[in-house]
Amino acid sequence: MKRTLASWLVVFAFGGLALTAGQSSPQSLDARALRLHRDAIVLDTHDDTMSESHPPGWRFDARGIAPSPEHPDGTSVDLPRMREGGLDGAFFSVYIAGTITGPPAVTAARRQLDALHALAATHPADLALCLTAADVRAAHKAKKIAILIGIEGGHMINDDLTVLDDFARRGARYLTLTHMVNTDWADSSGDQPAHNGLTDFGKQVVHELNRLGVMVDVSHVSDKTFWDVLAVSQSPVIASHSSCRALCAHPRNMTDEMIKALAAKGGTIQINFYDGFLDQPLYLKQKALEPELQRMRREALEKYPGPQNEQKRAEAMRAVDMKERSAGTTSWEKIVDHIDHAVKLVGADHVGLGSDFDGAVMPTGMEDCSMLPKITAALLARGYSEKAIRDILGENVLRIMEANEKIANRLRAR
Ligand SMILES: [Zn+2]
Repeated sequence: MKRTLASWLVVFAFGGLALTAGQSSPQSLDARALRLHRDAIVLDTHDDTMSESHPPGWRFDARGIAPSPEHPDGTSVDLPRMREGGLDGAFFSVYIAGTITGPPAVTAARRQLDALHALAATHPADLALCLTAADVRAAHKAKKIAILIGIEGGHMINDDLTVLDDFARRGARYLTLTHMVNTDWADSSGDQPAHNGLTDFGKQVVHELNRLGVMVDVSHVSDKTFWDVLAVSQSPVIASHSSCRALCAHPRNMTDEMIKALAAKGGTIQINFYDGFLDQPLYLKQKALEPELQRMRREALEKYPGPQNEQKRAEAMRAVDMKERSAGTTSWEKIVDHIDHAVKLVGADHVGLGSDFDGAVMPTGMEDCSMLPKITAALLARGYSEKAIRDILGENVLRIMEANEKIANRLRAR
């Protein structure tokens, strides 16, 4: 079924979505939600759509099918569904597995950066490559979708600050310091500690990111690395795709203390929609499967190394996703619970959306980005102000981009 944003009104009014808003009738609430969602700048800080190879026949400008047990090869983000879901921009991640290091990782990252530039250039009427918060606002005004770039994993700089400068020149606006394994200079939450957090060079990386106006992303890093980053970063940092550990104890999620410290520094936690980060019982079930999943992941990486095997590796990784799905799933409303938990801790100025679409298994009811207006409706139903919702949907990220730009200008003027 092809849905336009306006047709969500029908879905909300008659589709059985349980909305329980104080005084408002469901219908007026839904109309209000759609108006607000369409008017707000909605940004997602983590989409893996462009970092993996795609199913045969995939095109960014054609509407795909959401992933499901029946359609394991489905995808979550493309131009038609971004329009339907009122998703005005996304940080598309440049990513290659953390076990691929050295010059091949740099080459893979540059290739993906080029591909994102080419994507925007191929659809000039619909897409705009954005480097600053002002660019994003201008794109929104021109009814174009903002293409932003995040590098997911410090291993791709190959321990070389000049590579980092090059990535920044090519439009990268955040660097996730690690992926699931340690880099030579920062510990990951997915690995055994090797550096006690950030090394001295790791601190130089953070300083250089501040100088370049590239946001430091603390998703994936170990807790100690997180605290080291907060101690040295001069600019507000983001967790581009992490959820709340108080609700689901996965080590990729953030403790209340971490969320408070991140917010105190002006940063934001961008809630990850991955079902295994949202639901504690499901996380425990997946954890029991983890040795088997790890074996499958390792096998995929060993059997299909390097950029030349990307397609086969992606297929093998999808098989891992399917295995993971056998643990069950959870409901999209858990996303709203995590937003709500973080907002109660630190206020709506420090929370946002970092879906992990096309990089993780999504909860039922949020299988693709066309479903995002449900989050706006749910927040209104929970009594959130329109201002708070706009902040969560995108304004917080823009504020942090602006702060990073300002501080970078000051540091470079020295
Ligand atoms: Zn990730």
